[in-house]
Amino acid sequence: MTLDERDLGFLRRAVDLARLALERGDEPFGSVLVGAGGEVLFEDHNHVIAVDPTQHPELAIARWAGSHLAPAERAAATVYTSGEHCPMCSAAHGWVGLGRIVYAVSSAQLGQWRDDWGLPAPPVRPLSIRDVVPGLAVDGPAPELEDEVKALHARWVRPT
Ligand code: ZN
Repeated sequence: MTLDERDLGFLRRAVDLARLALERGDEPFGSVLVGAGGEVLFEDHNHVIAVDPTQHPELAIARWAGSHLAPAERAAATVYTSGEHCPMCSAAHGWVGLGRIVYAVSSAQLGQWRDDWGLPAPPVRPLSIRDVVPGLAVDGPAPELEDEVKALHARWVRPT
């Protein structure tokens, strides 16, 4: 499936949440859970500095969905996220039976930027969502948002 204007609108919200995280002193990642009817059910951003390093928004969404939505509602929902899920969040997404994922930038893009900026490899290998949750509908990246997301991560790496 390709990205339409509705997808891009929710992705922009996810990127806005990533910017909010950055403004609050946290790593710039944001995610939105959208129900089958297009309603926003839950949204969050990273709290890896404020709380602990596992506080990713995609994990918060999976845990919220697991305790608030019926299995059919989870399967029909879509998760929009500023950056592709890490393996921890992909696994939680798969275990709880959520539906389609749409990301603005891929883990491969983020990894390339980190390399270009001379950062060390992260402690967890950045597998693609498809390697962790086979058969899931996954769309992205969104070239329209690449520069904006890259700028947020650049500000995180090198605050001005
Ligand atoms: Zn994660």
